[in-house]
Amino acid sequence: MPSKITNYQCPACTGPLRYDGASGKLCCDFCGSSYTVKEIEALYKDKLDQAAQADVQQQAAQAAQAQQAEAAGEVSWSDDRIEEGMRAYNCPSCGAELICDETTAATSCPYCGNPTVVPGQFHGMLKPDYILPFKLDKEAAKKALREYYKGKRLLPKAFSAENHIEEIKGVYVPFWLFDGQGDADLRFKATKVTSHRSGDYQVTITDHYDVRRAGTVDFSRIPVDGSRKMPDAHMDAIEPFDYRELKPFSTAYMPGFLAERYDVDMEECSKRAKRRASNTTEQIVASTVRGYSSATPVGKNLVLRRGAVKYVMLPVWLLSTRWNGQSFLFAMNGQTGKLVGDLPVSMARYWGWFGAIAAPLAAILAGLLFLL
Ligand SMILES: [Zn+2]
Ligand SMILES: [Zn+2]
Repeated sequence: MPSKITNYQCPACTGPLRYDGASGKLCCDFCGSSYTVKEIEALYKDKLDQAAQADVQQQAAQAAQAQQAEAAGEVSWSDDRIEEGMRAYNCPSCGAELICDETTAATSCPYCGNPTVVPGQFHGMLKPDYILPFKLDKEAAKKALREYYKGKRLLPKAFSAENHIEEIKGVYVPFWLFDGQGDADLRFKATKVTSHRSGDYQVTITDHYDVRRAGTVDFSRIPVDGSRKMPDAHMDAIEPFDYRELKPFSTAYMPGFLAERYDVDMEECSKRAKRRASNTTEQIVASTVRGYSSATPVGKNLVLRRGAVKYVMLPVWLLSTRWNGQSFLFAMNGQTGKLVGDLPVSMARYWGWFGAIAAPLAAILAGLLFLL
């Protein structure tokens, strides 16, 4: 049985509302009304709570039913149209059944286009602490993408076609933010080489030093994405985010965007944060060894302490393209516009381009031969 799902409707005309990053309000494209996040939160609070409760209860009931069946030696009943790791919802607007990943938290109905939120995905322990609302809209993302493709003559058409660019999606990606502190105690063998002339001799003196540096580095909000689907390198590349604009979490920032809840837990992400913090601590402390001709590290002791951890949703524009059996991903920071992508070179276009240059050249050569 499909789980509970909610959409935000315009109080004036019941049209679907979407969050507009530029104005920071929820807008209705049907009647042109707009509402603050606070107004919509107040209107929807009870409805969302009820939907979340119903969703959680239903999940628990299904799990209990399956357990009972298993204990009784029966094969547990399941809906065989829905694969493992997927969940089904009914669109509250048109009633169509939506089959989503079990991590999907906000989406839009493919039949009627209505933005929907799955409140159970943010219930209890799964509730994020903060959300960074989108600031750059779809037009800005499409413009950035076109700029990025501009001048890349060997780009396959599959990437730059306008209907493909239209497919770019705004996604709230789950992140863990780690605070912490690192202690480094580093030892180096260092030398200082000086040289002077003494009569007929050039004298070179090498002084040897045992250098030791100890220091403590404080970290705040090292981001690590908590979604297995998101390539870590792309997520690292679109940093930094300006965390001063974080807002207390609310699903009212989500209509019109996609959202995922985390599927990589805090402990696992903590390892990546620790690696980053430990590399940075070492670099910062080592950078204070100055004024020597050479310095070779001979020993180190690093201790990391984890501080507060927050679960947040960060805004990212994403477009993935399948081409020649490979996938390519374009990602743009939905707050700052910083972007990253990987582009293939189309050999068909390469030869086409080469042909365009080669042909006039051949004509000139032919002309020269004729003159001779
Ligand atoms: Zn309206
Ligand atoms: Zn629908």
